[in-house]
Amino acid sequence: MSKITIAIDGYSSCGKSTLAKALAAKLGYAYVDSGAMYRCVTLYALRNGLIKDNSFIEDEIIKTLSEINLKFEFNPFTKSSDTFLNNENVEKDIRQMIVSENVSKVSAIKAVRTKMIMIQRELGKNGGIVMDGRDIGTNVFPNADLKLFMTADPDIRTQRRLDELTSKGQHPTFLEVKQNLLSRDHEDTHRKENPLTQAKDAIVLDNSDLTREQQLDFVLKLIHDLTLKVN
Ligand code: C5P
Repeated sequence: MSKITIAIDGYSSCGKSTLAKALAAKLGYAYVDSGAMYRCVTLYALRNGLIKDNSFIEDEIIKTLSEINLKFEFNPFTKSSDTFLNNENVEKDIRQMIVSENVSKVSAIKAVRTKMIMIQRELGKNGGIVMDGRDIGTNVFPNADLKLFMTADPDIRTQRRLDELTSKGQHPTFLEVKQNLLSRDHEDTHRKENPLTQAKDAIVLDNSDLTREQQLDFVLKLIHDLTLKVN
């Protein structure tokens, strides 16, 4: 079977990227974190003073889109890809709470989505890719060979995200993190443009009580079964 396309969607901090990275490494595929792209646009707007008190003028953000260049580069130390915004490694900066607090509003802008989706489709045009996000199986790659929809208990998601932020030297409270996750989920599922929904042909993976290894085994088994079906 030729290299397949794997789309992983789901709520915030469900472990989508952890699973996607592990899968990509195991299969020798490329991994693309589509959320990082929306975070870059948000970071750029914040740095240029276009977002103040959690509000902005859409047109001003749209105007900056032509100034934004994004790329991903594999980092041999972390064994994962880093995100570059105009040739600067912003992997750490795009995970800041201030970016998380504004990204869902920025990602709801139609012109922003159009540009990001164009880049995502280009990156995935030859298959052999694992991409995670909110609209990958429903919109970016509606013909993906395997679609997963991930979910987990909100408190478990909050703790995982808090642990990740703490390990990066940020110290928000549990409640701040939980509120941010829930409000992003609400905005992402209720927006007009490509809202987060479960694709009809997606397989649901609730990983509340699953280890990383169990999740990886689950998906590798799905891929194995898929391969048997195709061959
Ligand atoms: O995946 P991550 O949590 O980093 O994504 C950040 C935000 O980017 C999401 O909350 C959502 O607003 C937006 N996003 C999106 N479509 C995607 C991926 C992310 O709208 N495919």
